[in-house]
Amino acid sequence: PVNMKELLQETMLNVWAKAEQKHIQLKLDDNTEEPVIVSGDANRLKQVFLNVVDNAIKFSHEQSWIRIVISRKNQYQAIVQVADTGIGISEESLSKVKDRFYQVNHQGGGTGLGLAITQQLVELHHGEIDIASELGVGTTVSVTLPIMEPEELEQSEGETGKL
Ligand code: ATP
Ligand code: MG
Repeated sequence: PVNMKELLQETMLNVWAKAEQKHIQLKLDDNTEEPVIVSGDANRLKQVFLNVVDNAIKFSHEQSWIRIVISRKNQYQAIVQVADTGIGISEESLSKVKDRFYQVNHQGGGTGLGLAITQQLVELHHGEIDIASELGVGTTVSVTLPIMEPEELEQSEGETGKL
């Protein structure tokens, strides 16, 4: 079981220095009343958000901000949105950014594998990733993940106790 807010706080700490270099402010808003717990592997889920936030930083202008919001989409799903006010992605490129090795240009370095891996990891967790963007305005990446229900959580805690 992974506490989403804690995971996102850790992710932010990991990229803080990189954001600071560009004077980019990272903000985390938690809109949920109860902690959102997701079933899965903390390291893999962290990789998902590290890549998404890393992209947001790479493709943002200096002195901008990136907002991360956790909310409940419905009873069963949580949604984490990472919004930047960066360079954005054209409609034409948007359909390709999750393809392996696809990069709009090479301005951010890297290999173009981040989102392809991210997509696979999200699917592995029975979630979905959606990217909305407007060229010159910014990008919002939404990751939807199933919330662990209290009964499931109790069971898994029992299992952890046995280990
Ligand atoms: P890697 O993740 O392997 O270091 P990368 O960041 O270029 O390399 P992806 O994370 O797969 O690769 O992203 C693919 C491409 O999508 C990027 O090269 C960039 O062109 C575009 N992109 C992704 N996120 C954003 C964003 N937040 N704003 C603008 N463009 C983006
Ligand atoms: Mg990337």
